[in-house]
Amino acid sequence: MAAVHKDLTNRDYVAWAQFLHESDIWTKKQIADYQLKELRRITAFAYENTSGYQRLFDESGVKPSDIKTADDFKKYPFLTKEMVRDNLENFSADVPNRFYITTGGSTGVPTGMYRDPLSFAKELASKAHQYYRIGWREGDRQIVFRGLQIDSADNTEFCEEFNELRCSTYQFLPEQMEIYRQKALEFKPEWIRCYPSSGYVFARYLKDSGKSFPPIKGMLCSSEQLYDFQKQLFEEVFGADARIFVHYGHYEMAALAGFCEYTDDYHVLPQYGYVELLDVNNNQITKPGEVGEIAATSFIMHATPFIRYRTEDLAVFKSFGCEKCGRPHQTWERIEGRLQELVATKTGRLISTSMLNMHDDSYDHLKQFQFHQKETGSVIFRFVPRPSCSEIVLNQVKAKLQSKLGDDIDLITEAVKEIPLTKRGKHQLLIQELDLKLNHPALSKALSL
Ligand SMILES: [Zn+2]
Repeated sequence: MAAVHKDLTNRDYVAWAQFLHESDIWTKKQIADYQLKELRRITAFAYENTSGYQRLFDESGVKPSDIKTADDFKKYPFLTKEMVRDNLENFSADVPNRFYITTGGSTGVPTGMYRDPLSFAKELASKAHQYYRIGWREGDRQIVFRGLQIDSADNTEFCEEFNELRCSTYQFLPEQMEIYRQKALEFKPEWIRCYPSSGYVFARYLKDSGKSFPPIKGMLCSSEQLYDFQKQLFEEVFGADARIFVHYGHYEMAALAGFCEYTDDYHVLPQYGYVELLDVNNNQITKPGEVGEIAATSFIMHATPFIRYRTEDLAVFKSFGCEKCGRPHQTWERIEGRLQELVATKTGRLISTSMLNMHDDSYDHLKQFQFHQKETGSVIFRFVPRPSCSEIVLNQVKAKLQSKLGDDIDLITEAVKEIPLTKRGKHQLLIQELDLKLNHPALSKALSL
């Protein structure tokens, strides 16, 4: 008999999961009423408990009690990453048991913030709420690929309170992946939890070695965007019955969005935060297919409240309501990645790395690859070749990449023996050294991506 899943022993987790379940059928009106009430509450809290928000709100001339509609709320200025980074204490409240955490951040500039146990319990329950949609339950057997050092002889550990087998992706060579596979044959996980990039490396190993993996119900991917080439491989290796589930979230816990039972669109969870998808004039995007920056207000963070927080993450708008599941939630077609995940060309175009995937076998001859931009107008394509990677194959890959990139950017290829992981143990697709900001002149052109 397995132990009770640890989260289910946390009353705050259980209560929030229950609330999300009950409010899952809310109408548009019920959601709008709830969000307005929460906007008034969280802004009043921030105003009364932090000097930073007090000053910001006073400057705008709007008191939290003046907020009668969501439009009133939009009179407040945005909060940027730099503002939080440089004035953390002023934007934080003295909440009991708060603890400090720091993000790695694709920009390479870590942002520190405070969380508290209640906010974190709600975070976990909100993610679980999304997983319930595809049949996941606390206590299901899961194998987890983590960018963590695991201190054991075989680089795995079994965590009974979560019923999960944790495998370190720091050791991700074929011999090691074979050990993980053997363990999985014994454990029979129902779910794989991973970063898309680490799942990809493992799925490639299975495909290349032709070795089997026990049937799974699905993959729960997070922390990175999922590229089409990754999803295709997952479906090929784990079968069409395995649901590939992805959600978008971040450390600031202001926006959370995941797939639903039926579609691969990101449904923005309205009980979690108030989320605006901004065009270059800072207005909410309403046209399907347009790209905007995610700005979000957290309803669950109190130790460091995030109000109209500019995430520098981009999403592609789809609709205000999913036809398939009926939830009247804002949906996004895809996450376009961080601003820092775009490549800038000589003429100022920005290219999303998701455009650089190949829908054929072009990448089959490469073990791993990575893009690296050091200066505008050129990009390095670094790769670890497989034995099958001949000169001809490589020239084909180069030609295809160049045609995707366009002729206003130089492509430099570089064969390497290995591509190191980031500090968090991730396989980073793009190292972007340029500082791309939303006011980058090319961003408006990114709308055409
Ligand atoms: Zn839906």
